[in-house]
Amino acid sequence: MPEIPTIALPGGEPMPVLGLGTWGMGDDDRRAGQEADALRHGLDLGIRLIDTAEMYANGRAEQITGEAMKGRRDDVFLVSKVLPGNASREGTIAACERSLKHLGTDRIDLYLLHWRGPHPLAETLAGFEALMQAGKIRHWGVSNFDMDDCRELEKLAPGKVATNQVLYNLMRRGIEYDLLPWSRERGVPVMAYSPIEQGRLLKYPALGKVAERYGATPAQIALSWLLRQPGIVAIPKAARTAHVEENLAALDIRLDSEDLAILDRAFPPPASARPLEML
Ligand code: NAP
Repeated sequence: MPEIPTIALPGGEPMPVLGLGTWGMGDDDRRAGQEADALRHGLDLGIRLIDTAEMYANGRAEQITGEAMKGRRDDVFLVSKVLPGNASREGTIAACERSLKHLGTDRIDLYLLHWRGPHPLAETLAGFEALMQAGKIRHWGVSNFDMDDCRELEKLAPGKVATNQVLYNLMRRGIEYDLLPWSRERGVPVMAYSPIEQGRLLKYPALGKVAERYGATPAQIALSWLLRQPGIVAIPKAARTAHVEENLAALDIRLDSEDLAILDRAFPPPASARPLEML
């Protein structure tokens, strides 16, 4: 299995470019064992980043993540998120403490504001700073931040944001127009969520056509297309171990200019600015 490359966080620490998503895990307790096994299998294979959130199944996805990390916390780069409605200064601290209990750990490596909400950004950042001081989080970042939000954030905390997690895949290329170059210029990693559009991407003939050239699957081509780009981390969710293995093997595929042309024709890059899309 391929070694997973890393990307530098603004402070220089490496973060893996491939992770394991957890949205939908914990929705049905009968599947929880299988879901924890899939995460464990990913860790066994060397996929060290897990992305979760207090929102996912009301904390149950965090608990499943905690089960998967048992006895190997130090091997994991752990990402979780605070809900916007909780993101006052004190609410952020309380939400993080609840998440730590669910996760069965004393620290989150990267803690994100899930999307913009009712609380002033400065308050959320004050919560993040207090959590950093207490050693409960090691880095903080944001999610679903469009250009205006990013500019506001840059004024409040220049050079401090460790990532922006946004919807990015072949069907959702709007960020290539502005947000992605802007983030790259500042060395802020972009974490691409729903990298295979929750499975909806897989039916497109262009992906099948490129996949055939490599004896690969459409999901692998969708991931390879993301992972070949500088500044991008992809976090596909897979509750099946076979999917976890397949996703990791996508790192071995090197798309060439002919493949990229086929994909560009089927999924054209943006010609003008578009509002950031969300799922
Ligand atoms: P996704 O990763 O694009 O798709 C997940 C779906 O694809 C699952 O049904 C999974 O099936 C299937 N799948 C995975 N690998 C596959 C493969 N190799 N072949 C065929 N099917 C495959 O969608 P997502 O879960 O929405 O996004 C990924 C993660 O991003 C989430 O889990 C979450 O951690 C994060 N996220 C963040 C936000 C945000 O607002 N910040 C929003 C959405 C998602 P199985 O599970 O059956 O294996």
